[in-house]
Amino acid sequence: MVGAIVGTIAIVLVTVAIGIWIDRKKPLLPRPEDFTEPEKLPPPQHAAGEAPATAIPASESQLANLRSSQRCTACRARMADDPAADDRVRYDDRDLLVLHFTCDKCGAKRSLYVEPVPK
Ligand SMILES: [Zn+2]
Repeated sequence: MVGAIVGTIAIVLVTVAIGIWIDRKKPLLPRPEDFTEPEKLPPPQHAAGEAPATAIPASESQLANLRSSQRCTACRARMADDPAADDRVRYDDRDLLVLHFTCDKCGAKRSLYVEPVPK
């Protein structure tokens, strides 16, 4: 009777030892680091004026300057602005103006978010 109990315990211990040895050689069980959150990446950053959150504050004269000074990011050609196509949007309790530009050379399009401010 005692022999059966000792034998069972011995078999269990040997099986556990073999399991631990195999897991050390080639991990079968998940490790604590498998449950850690992957590092969160910061939200993508937009250049000034590329997104509502980075709207450029501009007075009337600065706005005129912005309209005439845009260059295509692809070919560096001057970009044409169509003031009639301007959009007005409200973002974060601010009234923004969205200027739309089209490249004269390659036809690329771009929008610029501007926050009109009194001079
Ligand atoms: Zn272009």
